[in-house]
Amino acid sequence: MTNLSNLSITDAHIHIQPFHMMKPEVQRTFWHNKPDRVELEGYAADPRALLRRMDADRIDRVGLINYVSPDLMGFTDEVNAWMVRYASADPARLIAFGSVNPRFTVDVGAQVERILASGVKALKIHPPHQLFRANAYQHDLPQLAELYDRAQAAGVPVTIHTGTSVFPGARSRLGDPMDVDDVAIDFPNLTILLAHGGRPLWMEAAFFLVRRHSNVFLELSGIPPGRLLEYFPRLGQIAAQAVWGTDWPSPGVRSMRANVDQFLALPLDADVKRQILHESAARIFR
Ligand SMILES: [Zn+2]
Repeated sequence: MTNLSNLSITDAHIHIQPFHMMKPEVQRTFWHNKPDRVELEGYAADPRALLRRMDADRIDRVGLINYVSPDLMGFTDEVNAWMVRYASADPARLIAFGSVNPRFTVDVGAQVERILASGVKALKIHPPHQLFRANAYQHDLPQLAELYDRAQAAGVPVTIHTGTSVFPGARSRLGDPMDVDDVAIDFPNLTILLAHGGRPLWMEAAFFLVRRHSNVFLELSGIPPGRLLEYFPRLGQIAAQAVWGTDWPSPGVRSMRANVDQFLALPLDADVKRQILHESAARIFR
């Protein structure tokens, strides 16, 4: 019998970040319909408050998503120092994501090395918000290859947003996961997480990529757990390459715990649940 009640859970994708840096129109979208705004800003102001919330939600570790998008979102390079400082409250439980935007960076390789040395544990690429394709190193953005190359050499995972976005100015077209096919082939030892599994337009492509490439993982944030098996009916077959995440506090995600409880209620084997909530992330985020 597998007991899931004491499982150490990693939520690989939450958004507690420097909210104050977001542009006014982005703030309007982000804070729309969030009655707990003050509480959320409190977590951003004090990592110990977030750690207490994680304890209450019985979440062991979180991935703190962060990306540089000065023109669309308002996040400048300063987000990296902010995130490392924030995660330093408990680096074992707070996984600092970092970001380099090759559209605004001259020496991408050096900048990646700098932020990794500073304490960043994973990288994030957000094509619809950073306005380049995940495979743009083949075309107009050759320096993007340096980011993947340094991450691969350092054994650092890269989470890539796949799927649409409703933020002002976002280019959902760039969220097509098939662009990641090139990245997986050109950087075969790079660990790649497909955030949101291409939802809601490209789930089949995302599932294909995970089956096709042993270095590609499905990262389940942003998908309502109750509908997970509608989106990915064969999820059980790829559990060893699937990683738990919530996208909290995005719309519809009440809490990290609420999503876990909905996931645990799904008709999946206990082994599959354990792999997704714990084991895959234990291998990826070391
Ligand atoms: Zn997200």
